[in-house]
Amino acid sequence: MKITSIEELYIAELQDLYSAESQISESLPKLIEAVQNEDFKQSLTAHLEETKQQIQRIKQICEEMEIDPEGNECEAAKGLVQEADEIISETDPGMIRDTALTGAAQRVEFYEQAGYETAIRLAESLQYFNHIDLLNESLSEERAAASKVVSAAMAIAGETEPDTMPTHEGRLKVEGKPEGIGGYARPETPDAHAMIAADDEENIYQDEDSVARGGTS
Ligand code: FE
Ligand code: FE
Ligand code: ZN
Ligand code: FE
Repeated sequence: MKITSIEELYIAELQDLYSAESQISESLPKLIEAVQNEDFKQSLTAHLEETKQQIQRIKQICEEMEIDPEGNECEAAKGLVQEADEIISETDPGMIRDTALTGAAQRVEFYEQAGYETAIRLAESLQYFNHIDLLNESLSEERAAASKVVSAAMAIAGETEPDTMPTHEGRLKVEGKPEGIGGYARPETPDAHAMIAADDEENIYQDEDSVARGGTS
């Protein structure tokens, strides 16, 4: 369908959001099931409830406008959901999968924020003031969900306390980690952090001295 007015564009954006939210609410239970980290699991579960409310808000707006909320499939959400499915089929339950799914979830939340911000701008220019309030509620939830995903990703990596920081020498110092951090069993093979910790005295990054010497470290 050709779009020739801001009103039509607004409708298309609402329908895109409706489609995206519907696809996300269908995919979230599978993600929740696949995740092991309890905090991440719980924030996804809470966000599934919010997502159902978000669908209702768009429905309410569409009812007021006497339009069908369906009719514009969100191709991006389809792709984002497919990528999450791909992660689940390519990983075993555990830290690697949870980490990958935080990346997938963050992409979804950022995509949704862009959609709501766009719809809000259009509602403003069309002066649908009650729509703005409804859309803003959803936007706030998406922002909060995105920041919870980031916190979960940091906790899963064992980085609630920053453990990697530049020193005065301009090189990275990485502390060793306690066992079972983030609620996962310690992997059998050394992970990158453990390898760096074991190698602590050997500078894996070129420091200023070695650059000055013109050699490799
Ligand atoms: Fe949403
Ligand atoms: Fe879309
Ligand atoms: Zn979306
Ligand atoms: Fe969301």
